[in-house]
Amino acid sequence: MPIKSRIRTIPHYPHDGIMFRDITTLLKDPIGLRATIQEITKRYEGVKIDKVVGIEARGFIVGTPVAYELGVGFVPVRKQNKLPAETVGRDYQLEYGSDRIEIHMDAIQPGDRVLLIDDLIATGGTALAAVNLIQDMGGKILECCFVIDLPDVGGRARLEANGQKVFALCEFAGD
Ligand code: AMP
Repeated sequence: MPIKSRIRTIPHYPHDGIMFRDITTLLKDPIGLRATIQEITKRYEGVKIDKVVGIEARGFIVGTPVAYELGVGFVPVRKQNKLPAETVGRDYQLEYGSDRIEIHMDAIQPGDRVLLIDDLIATGGTALAAVNLIQDMGGKILECCFVIDLPDVGGRARLEANGQKVFALCEFAGD
């Protein structure tokens, strides 16, 4: 397990009860970094993709090299007020309160075939907001791809119930 074994768990970060899955230990390791990018790239080689969209911030780290390897462009989805040009946004619910993600209005063309990437799926709220944003712009999501799935939290099932295909390199279940 070159990937899962290199992910560090920090209990009770950033809040009591959260098991934080830290990919910095995976990324700093040359075998781990290479395996992560290669495994994702291998899955999508030969698939017609127009853009990789990565979600701030760890989705940028994983998404950009995947886009580079696939020979397609990379588009960032960012938190509110971070992108300089005209944006479209989506609000989504957090456990307490809400948040907003945005994308440049000219980043996705109608009909674009998009691979969505983030480091981790928990509740799926962030990914679902990004899916909705891209679909509103006329993009077609081929798959939502993550390094880590937390199946007990239910985000994968939520995305699938929404008609999305989901792929994750590893999962942490049962703790
Ligand atoms: P969610 O919208 O609940 O699916 O949360 C996904 C986002 O929150 C991802 O961008 C993750 O980076 C971050 N996140 C949520 N839970 C964790 C966790 N247990 N460990 C690390 N990151 C997490």
